[in-house]
Amino acid sequence: MADLSIILGKFRGANVELHWTFVLLMLFVLVFDVQAFFLLALFFVCVLLHEMVHAEVASRRKVKIKRIVIYPLGGGTVIDQNNMSPDTEAAVSISGPIATLLLALILYLASIPTAGTLSNLLYLLAVLNLLLGIFNLLPWMPLDGGRALRGWLEKSRSHTEATRLTLTASRITMVAYVVLSSAYIIIAKYSVSYKEFLLLFNALIALFIYGGTESEMLMARIKERTGSIDIKRGISKDYTLINPGMKISSLNSLVVNPYSHTVITKSEGGYAVLSNQRLRKEALKTTASDARIGKLCVPIPTLDYGTSMFNAFQTLESEESPLAVVVKKGKPAGIIRRQRLEYLMMLRMRFKNTGKGRNR
Ligand SMILES: [Zn+2]
Repeated sequence: MADLSIILGKFRGANVELHWTFVLLMLFVLVFDVQAFFLLALFFVCVLLHEMVHAEVASRRKVKIKRIVIYPLGGGTVIDQNNMSPDTEAAVSISGPIATLLLALILYLASIPTAGTLSNLLYLLAVLNLLLGIFNLLPWMPLDGGRALRGWLEKSRSHTEATRLTLTASRITMVAYVVLSSAYIIIAKYSVSYKEFLLLFNALIALFIYGGTESEMLMARIKERTGSIDIKRGISKDYTLINPGMKISSLNSLVVNPYSHTVITKSEGGYAVLSNQRLRKEALKTTASDARIGKLCVPIPTLDYGTSMFNAFQTLESEESPLAVVVKKGKPAGIIRRQRLEYLMMLRMRFKNTGKGRNR
């Protein structure tokens, strides 16, 4: 489904995308209410600014930006987390909400001298940004505030310990928020349906944060156990590197069984893979295809030979790729599949005593 996303342009070397679910939501709103459509569109310009500030701070600290994506419930900046220092994680995370709060102040000040619809619109946008800024300053884990707190705590603790403390802060403030805001909603003079809507919204936030803290803790444990083991053991040699200019019809003469074999080519700045699905489709055509292999390949990430299992897994996860090319001194040393990596990591999690020594 990722293909349905709309790419707006590039910022700091990364694609700025509107996720397909966001595009769908906007079309849906446009059909029902043009005014709401414009308000949402303007608000998402503010969300985009928030993400661009994250990306700007990250790129100034030499962190690679992979993607900036706008979703129906906010934005996300995907950055290369490999070897990112806790200090950088804190700075990158806190920059977004600070920018959003400043924007809220500017919009509010701009609403004062104006009048009528424009004033109302600026005021409404100021309130939405204020809420976005505050929610992202709370120490809630998958959000900016939680990441900033963890980065700050991690300066003098282990990653796992910093995560554990942040999760405790996350849950305590979450419970306090839900209890206090629900009590306020119940005694406030809102209509019953509006109260129901707000309470449901609270329940959803609580579930989202709870789920987020659970998965963060799991990731911290996995990092603790697999962050120091390199990927050497998972590398496979079952691939062929083929010239991207070669015709797809000449594959059979090169690869013994193209259906179970991985075909990779060089692409601009890295490597690309010819998916088996694509290969099968081409092979089923009655006339031999003249298509060049390079044109049919999709880019895959490149990992260094010394990359840890955890970092490799994070890269495959954030790039949504089933495999990566492992390079040693600039030359391909093999491929690593996500399935194999997950299996090795699971073994490591289950039998923690089959330690580092045996892998060397
Ligand atoms: Zn943010």
